[in-house]
Amino acid sequence: MPELPEVETIARDIRPHLVGAVIRGVRVLKADILRGIGPREFERSLAGRRVAAVGRRAKHVVIALDDGRRIVIQPRMTGSLMVSAVPASPDKYVAISAPLSTGLQLTYRDVRRLGAIHLLSAEAWTRYDARIGPEPLEAGFTAARLAVALAGGRLAVKKALMDQRRLAGVGNIYANEALWSAGIDPSRSARSVTSDEARRLHHALVRILRRSIRRRGTTVRDYRTGTGEPGAYQSRLNVYGRARRPCRRCGRRIVLTHAVDARATYFCPGCQH
Ligand SMILES: [Zn+2]
Repeated sequence: MPELPEVETIARDIRPHLVGAVIRGVRVLKADILRGIGPREFERSLAGRRVAAVGRRAKHVVIALDDGRRIVIQPRMTGSLMVSAVPASPDKYVAISAPLSTGLQLTYRDVRRLGAIHLLSAEAWTRYDARIGPEPLEAGFTAARLAVALAGGRLAVKKALMDQRRLAGVGNIYANEALWSAGIDPSRSARSVTSDEARRLHHALVRILRRSIRRRGTTVRDYRTGTGEPGAYQSRLNVYGRARRPCRRCGRRIVLTHAVDARATYFCPGCQH
């Protein structure tokens, strides 16, 4: 958390305010969220740079600068990224603030500081990007491509779906939801998934991710959009967070287990086997 739909929502919200703007100065208030770069160097590197593009890759917001470098932000559990008017009151959870030439301010806030921020050269970004699997919402991502991503895995299909080297952007919430929708037991090995099941799973995954983006993501706890609001997809979840409640398809009680991976796995014993 946040996963593909949430990070996509953040990127879409901040993009119109950032692209073309010049970063006037940067203040790093919590240096421990930076990776591979010190706070002073980070501040120096960004000051005066123009933002060329804002996008998403897997669960990262990627801000491309006019010198080719990329600010790569992974909000993880409690991070949020926002462009707003300068806040009136100081906030102790602000980790980075960057005033922009437009008068607005880019702020990264992180309550537990579990997030991570990299500043990568164009070449380092290319290498980083190459280690991440295909994007499920890209045109070239077909059911056959999903089957390839799952192939050769002894690990549980749910774990394979969440493995960022196999597939980008899917985490615990959407893996649970997609497997329920496709009627596949999350504990089954990835390589046991048939081509028919891969087709169903592909369809479910793409549909669920798109729907969640339309509803601006899922807020279970801390996730906020790029405008500071909660998402709205949580009311549409079919299994995640619904332990012991009746399955919306067959009426059996949803089961919560931690036996598949270390994470919470929700499934319906009636229609996922
Ligand atoms: Zn069911």
